Order: sequence, then structure tokens, then C-alpha cells
Amino acid sequence: MKQPRRFETRAVHSGEHRAGAKEGRDGIFYPISTPIYASTTFSHPNIETTDRVLGGEEQGYSYARYDNPTVRAFEEALLSLEAPKSEAGIRTFAFASGMAATHAALAAAELADGATVLAAEQLYGSTSTLLVQIFGASGVETSFVDAYDLGAVEKKVAGLEPRAVVVESISNPLLRVADIQGISKITRAAGAALIVDNTFGTPYLQRPLELGADIVIHSATKYLSGHGDLTAGVVAAGPPYTAAVEQLRKLVGGVLGPFEAWLAHRGLKTLPLRMGRQCENAREIASRLAAHPKVAKVNHPFLSAHPDHETAGRVLSDTGGLVSFELAAEGREAAFAFLNALELCVKAPSLGDIYTLAIHPATSSHRELSPSRRKRLGVGENLVRLSVGIEHAEDVISDLEQALERL
Ligand SMILES: *Cc1c(COP(=O)(O)O)cnc(C)c1O
Repeated sequence: MKQPRRFETRAVHSGEHRAGAKEGRDGIFYPISTPIYASTTFSHPNIETTDRVLGGEEQGYSYARYDNPTVRAFEEALLSLEAPKSEAGIRTFAFASGMAATHAALAAAELADGATVLAAEQLYGSTSTLLVQIFGASGVETSFVDAYDLGAVEKKVAGLEPRAVVVESISNPLLRVADIQGISKITRAAGAALIVDNTFGTPYLQRPLELGADIVIHSATKYLSGHGDLTAGVVAAGPPYTAAVEQLRKLVGGVLGPFEAWLAHRGLKTLPLRMGRQCENAREIASRLAAHPKVAKVNHPFLSAHPDHETAGRVLSDTGGLVSFELAAEGREAAFAFLNALELCVKAPSLGDIYTLAIHPATSSHRELSPSRRKRLGVGENLVRLSVGIEHAEDVISDLEQALERL
């Protein structure tokens, strides 16, 4: 039997339609990269075809808010990575940002008046705020739980009977690793939808739909596109959620544009190369920081002291490209002095780029939280987070070491 194509091969080839010749005014040609179709509308050879395309009886394109060939090429490529066994009717939908994708996923899970949602207390700040303020205003009740404590999730689900449970495959900034298989057993039994934000994991590390998740969301602004040059989001889901996600995207209009889709698709082709290097670099950096006298503690799932070291071995194919660490010197001043002393690492509040990025979570991602909540989540003033890039690890380590020496 023919071997199914591997992840790396699918990453570079999926979504491209090379077999069909294009008959243009310049003859027959085969673009090896899907062009940017900067067209709002698509015409057909006759009005009957337009009628069938608009009626959904024939495959095709009509209006760019509904669908666009460049956007679809990116979606097909991602589908081949996130859900290679797509017989379950799983589809991917590209959005203009991770938050637009998150909103559509939550709305598709029928979070309406009277519904309860159970969310990880470690969630991305804007996702928590979206739930509490926007969905909260329409009568949705959000309750929070430590999603990396399976017993706590089980108890809360039994008590609240939530319509949906929202978790991240890997949390920020302590890099806790969710036991998606364990959580999905609980949500399946309770009839709740399990929504997993796989931005930190990417399909390279984990495919939550294969582990029992119902809906996967991504900020494609991060690892999927990988070059810090665009904003995009994706929802991957099967029935019964696909129709709702598609309708929400059509009606709310948060669709990805063709230029960004083209860039995101180009970035996606090197996901396995980038992630492989980023994971390798992160392991080396984490190990070296853990042995440094000016570092008090390092958070990275590869380290045996990490609370989810064992879970990571079960649910992730590698340990990821993020590392966070506490400086031995206490307080914000030391953290700022360290960050200001960096010469190579870029001080910027994002992640997943080819560059190594460094941030101070207490004043960026976790800025809006009270000091006591930050403390509970383990986000101290002396915590620094790195999103490790694809540079030579030794150059990044030299930069970190010279900045530590200056403390
Ligand atoms: C960045 C991010 C988002 C939001 O994505 P945008 O593309 O900025 O809208 C959601 N979840 C996680 C985990 C993120 O890191």
C-alpha cells in the first residue's frame, strides 16, 4: 500500500493546484505557487453556472467574503496538517485575526443566553475578556478553572454542566501542557464542546482534533505564518460546527484577505523546519539557563522539573519553542535591566517568529491583571518569557549570558 505523505511533504505541497492548466491569453501555464487573487468577485462562462455556484450546487467562487482561491489554498494546506484524516468532514476557515477566529468558534458552540462556559484561568487575556465582556453581555456565564489540573476540570464540569470548555494546548507564560485526551473524556461524557486554542502547539506538536477536541483555533499571526509580518486566524472543526463557522464568517465578515492568505501559506510551508529548529534551540537555551547562577527557575516542558514533563511526553511530539524563566534578582527593575541589555533578542510582545523575542509578561500579556491574580498564576515581576527563533542557539545564549552578567 502507498504510504500517506509525511507532515513535511504535506506542508510544502498541500493547497497548491498544479494539475489543472490555466488557459489565459498567454497560452497554457501552470503556476507552481497559487497566485494572489486580488478580486472581489468571480464571473463564470454563463449565468447558469453563477446560479449553481451561488446555490452551492457547484464548486466555485462568487464573492470574496464567501471564498477566495488564495484563501482556500492556505485553508487546504492547514487542513492537511491539522486534520490529515479528514474523513470526519473537518474543514478549516481562515479569519482576519486569531480573535476573529476565536469569536466565531465560541459563537458556533452556541454560547447564548443562559449558557455556561468553563474556561482555563490561564487563557490568553483577550479571550477571557471576550468571554466575560462580549459574551457576558448576552447572558453567557464564564467560570474559570485551572485547566492543567484534571481533577479540578472534572469537578467543575460536573457541577456547572457547561456548554463549552475552552483551553490552550500549552499555556502562557508557564508553558503548562493540557492533557487534551483526559479533558476530552470529561467533556464527551458531559456533552460539552471542547475548544482548544492550539496557537502555542501548532499541528507540528499536537493535533487536538485527533485527541478528542471538537474545535481548534489558531492565531496564525504566530507560528503558522511565522515571520511576524501578518495578522490571521484559523478555525478547524467538523460537523455540527462547520456550517455555523462558515455562516458566521460570511455574515460577520472577519474573513482573511488574499494578500495575507498568500503570505500565511508561504510561511506555513516551512512550519516543520522552523518548529524543529525552535524546539531544538529552546531545549538548549532552557538547559543552559537552568544551570546559570543568576537564574532562579526555568519553565520549559523538556526539563524534568516541569510539572507537565510527563504529560508533554504523551501529548506533544516535541517540547515547543517557548521558555520562561525567573531571574534570581527580584523585582521589575532587574527584569527591565535584563531586557534592556539584550542586543540580539528582540523585545516585542508576540511569539512564534523566526526571531527570538523576549517579553516581560507582568507588564505585557498579564498587565491587566491584579498583582494578586498575577501571583496566583505564577507571573512574578522577575519573570521573562522567550519565544525562541531559528538563529544559531549559541548566539542567542551568548546574548542572554551577557545580559545576565550585567545584573
Ligand atoms: C495572539 C494570540 C491570540 C490572538 O490572536 P490575534 O491574531 O492577535 O488576534 C489568541 N490566542 C493565543 C494563545 C495567542 O497567542
